[in-house]
Amino acid sequence: MPAIIELTRQLKVKRFIAFNFIPAGRGADAVELDLTPEQREELLKQLFIQSHTSGIEVLSTAPQYARVSLECSGGASVAPTHFYLGEASWDLKVLADFIGGCGAGRLYCALQPNGDVSPCVFMPDVRIRNLRKERFMDIWHNNRTLIKLRDRSSLQSNCGKCEHKFVCGGCRARALAYFDDLLAPDPSCILTSLGPQATAHPADHLQKFGPEGNLKRIICRQPTPVLKHASD
Ligand code: SF4
Repeated sequence: MPAIIELTRQLKVKRFIAFNFIPAGRGADAVELDLTPEQREELLKQLFIQSHTSGIEVLSTAPQYARVSLECSGGASVAPTHFYLGEASWDLKVLADFIGGCGAGRLYCALQPNGDVSPCVFMPDVRIRNLRKERFMDIWHNNRTLIKLRDRSSLQSNCGKCEHKFVCGGCRARALAYFDDLLAPDPSCILTSLGPQATAHPADHLQKFGPEGNLKRIICRQPTPVLKHASD
């Protein structure tokens, strides 16, 4: 990572963003490449250090980056969005508690070519409404799936109990990909303690199901209420 960032610095890049890996779309076929929770934690720490030493903005779309930036800086820096890391002034901390972490269905959503609306580009199968049939603002304000995603108290398991859930909240697309549940814990976080297998590679928890060749996967442990493919 330092070599990549050094290259971007030489290229006079202003901002470097490491996108989170999400096993969706063709990414589902590369799930073995996902990082372990420890590897992701180490990567995010390196990114934070680079953000203060490289002279360029270094960010990540992994929502845990907000927690890591607070921890690494002793509370002096916070990343309230995927696109900004700043000094953790009182107002920025307050802002981070409202808009921090995963922005799926909260800060953004995805529009598909046929007008279908999804909470995030990384959950294209979750089609909540269609723009050709309803006004966007009606969907945005009233859809129950989006309202759930904005309510961090609805998060399950360790993300739900985590003191950082307001600045982070875990990646909802990863929760969906691994648990088939938008509100499940994000298995990429070292704080998402799932028992003895907590630090295993997320793919180790996967179990294929359905017809042979079906790419749909879930984790078989940790049953949680499923909120998926919601149309209301
Ligand atoms: S447990 Fe969940 S909410 Fe807490 S830091 Fe980890 S991913 Fe974020």
